[in-house]
Amino acid sequence: MPRASQYDDVVLRALGRSTRFRSCQEIHLALSGGRSRARRPPSLSTVYRTLHRLAEEGVLDTLHSPGGERLYRLCRTSSRHHHLLCRVCGRVEDVAQAGELAAVAERVGADSGFSSLDYSFELSGVCPGCA
Ligand SMILES: [Zn+2]
Ligand SMILES: [Zn+2]
Repeated sequence: MPRASQYDDVVLRALGRSTRFRSCQEIHLALSGGRSRARRPPSLSTVYRTLHRLAEEGVLDTLHSPGGERLYRLCRTSSRHHHLLCRVCGRVEDVAQAGELAAVAERVGADSGFSSLDYSFELSGVCPGCA
């Protein structure tokens, strides 16, 4: 979809400035208002489609907020990893034990005969600052 991909850079630039995971609506708001106003801000559905596709391609990381909303961030780590979300302040830590989960998925695949196994793993809790 060439119309969506023309906004890749705009969306990635908006994400690059933030260390927080943000919803599609927050990112859309950042693009259509304030100092970073784009000449022709993309519509909410364009932002949504762009985020969704970039996440599918593995460019963006996603997780679900406690309310079930999908959140996006551009992570500095290029290797597969998982996230630990604070339900109070929204702070997110990267989880380093991705290898152990990959090993579990591999064993499940071997035992079941399933191939191309995919999985997501999301953890949330209350961070030390909010406890
Ligand atoms: Zn991450
Ligand atoms: Zn917190």
